[in-house]
Amino acid sequence: MCWPISRGQKCSGSRGAAAPPNPSGVKGVSAATGENIINIAGCPPHPDWIVWAVAQLLIGQNIPLDGNGRPTQFFSRKVHDLCPRKDREKAERLGLDGGCLKELGCRGPETKANCPTLKWNNGVNWCVEANAPCLGCTEPTFSGTNPFYKEL
Ligand code: SF4
Ligand code: SF4
Repeated sequence: MCWPISRGQKCSGSRGAAAPPNPSGVKGVSAATGENIINIAGCPPHPDWIVWAVAQLLIGQNIPLDGNGRPTQFFSRKVHDLCPRKDREKAERLGLDGGCLKELGCRGPETKANCPTLKWNNGVNWCVEANAPCLGCTEPTFSGTNPFYKEL
């Protein structure tokens, strides 16, 4: 899922084709129409990302985008690089020891978003701090064909 925004560029939906296996052949609005969009990625997108982008448009500011149409303001760094568990021992089980969840399926190393610093629900928490792996929800490959969790 993503939240598409126009800015003199046009409004539309997910920027690229849907993630594989995509049996129904769904296309993102950008792929279907050829229009440029601002892709506020995420499942769901963080409301602060949406409000910020709309505010930028309202005051006439240009919004720098990455190759997937996402504002670089929020999607230039990997979750893993911002994660406070980066140098910790690997977690043996979900929800118990506060360790790094990479071996349990965390997609933070391949996912760009500022969740570790922004957090959700007015800064209350975010996925890894709640002992759940990052699922990579801001990436065009989300949700993908692989399971979210790895069996031990
Ligand atoms: S929990 Fe995930 S995002 Fe955090 S350091 Fe480990 S692999 Fe990276
Ligand atoms: S931490 Fe990962 S799965 Fe969680 S909201 Fe951020 S990008 Fe999505």
